[in-house]
Amino acid sequence: MHTCRHCGTARDPDAASAIAWARERDPDGREHWLCPACARRHVRDIEAKLPHEWWA
Ligand SMILES: [Zn+2]
Repeated sequence: MHTCRHCGTARDPDAASAIAWARERDPDGREHWLCPACARRHVRDIEAKLPHEWWA
């Protein structure tokens, strides 16, 4: 079970919205997941590869 890195929402792999989750990989190889709402809201931060701490 994955949870949203930003808001902590749990990802239900059986839900229709599961495919909208975004996966990111840190430089150290760890994977993180973002729920659709956070992925949409922070798309610019993600594209700029801002560290998570810098997200508004
Ligand atoms: Zn979220």
